[in-house]
Amino acid sequence: MTDETAAPAEKHVFQADVARLLHLMVHSIYSERDIFLRELISNAADACEKLRYEANSDSALTQDGEAFSIKVALDPEAGTLSVIDNGVGMNRDELNSALGTIANSGTRAFLEKMKVAENSPNAAELIGQFGIGFYSAFMVADRVVVETRRAGEETAWRWTSDGKGDYEVSPLPLGEAPARGSRVILHLNEESKEAYTKPYTIERLISEHSSAVATPIDLVEKPG
Ligand code: ADP
Ligand code: MG
Repeated sequence: MTDETAAPAEKHVFQADVARLLHLMVHSIYSERDIFLRELISNAADACEKLRYEANSDSALTQDGEAFSIKVALDPEAGTLSVIDNGVGMNRDELNSALGTIANSGTRAFLEKMKVAENSPNAAELIGQFGIGFYSAFMVADRVVVETRRAGEETAWRWTSDGKGDYEVSPLPLGEAPARGSRVILHLNEESKEAYTKPYTIERLISEHSSAVATPIDLVEKPG
C-alpha cells in the first residue's frame, strides 16, 4: 500500500463552463439562495441510493451495517453548515469529474437560459433540472470543503474551493476521514452565517423542500 496521505495537494482549474456558471449563479439568482440546502440533501440521498444499489451485487460495501442517514450539522461559532451522508462517496477521479467539470451537455443551454431568465421565478427550478445543484452552495459559502471516501476504498479525499476558478484535491488523513460517504462543509459567507446556522430556519427549509427524501435527515447542532 502506498502512503497517499503524504502526497501534496493538487490544484485544478475549473472547466471554463463551471467558472462561468458559478459567477452567473452567485450574481443572478441570489434571492433564491435557500435552494442550496435542497440540492445538497438531494445529492446526499442520491449517494445513499447509489450505494444501496451497488451493495446488491457487492454486499461487502455495506458490511459495517450502518443504516443510511443524512445529517445537517450546524456550528454557529465556526459559521459552518455541513451536510453529511454515509452513501457511496467519491474517489479522486470521481471528485474531479463530478465537481470539476459539467458533464451535462445541456450546460450551455442552461447558461443561455439563465442570461435571459435573470431573477425569473423558475431559475431555481432550472438548477435542479440541469444537474448543477452542487454549485449553488457557493451562493451562501465563500469556501466549500468536501471530505469523502468511496465505500470500500482505502484512501479518502478532501476537495476544497472558494468557487472563484480553481479547486484543490488532497488525500485526507485516515483519522479525519469518514468511514464511507461524504461531508460537504460550507463555510458560510458573512450574509449567510446568521440565517443558515439557526436550527429553526434549517428545520423549516428541510420540511419545505426535502420532505419527500426517503433517507432520514437529522439536524445536529454541532458537527460530531
Ligand atoms: P446532479 O446531482 O444532478 O448530478 P449536482 O451538481 O448536484 O448534479 O452534483 C454533481 C455530481 O457530484 C453528482 O452527480 C455526484 O456524482 C457528485 N456528488 C455531489 N454530492 C455528492 C455526495 N454527497 N456524494 C456522492 N457524490 C456526490
Ligand atoms: Mg444534485
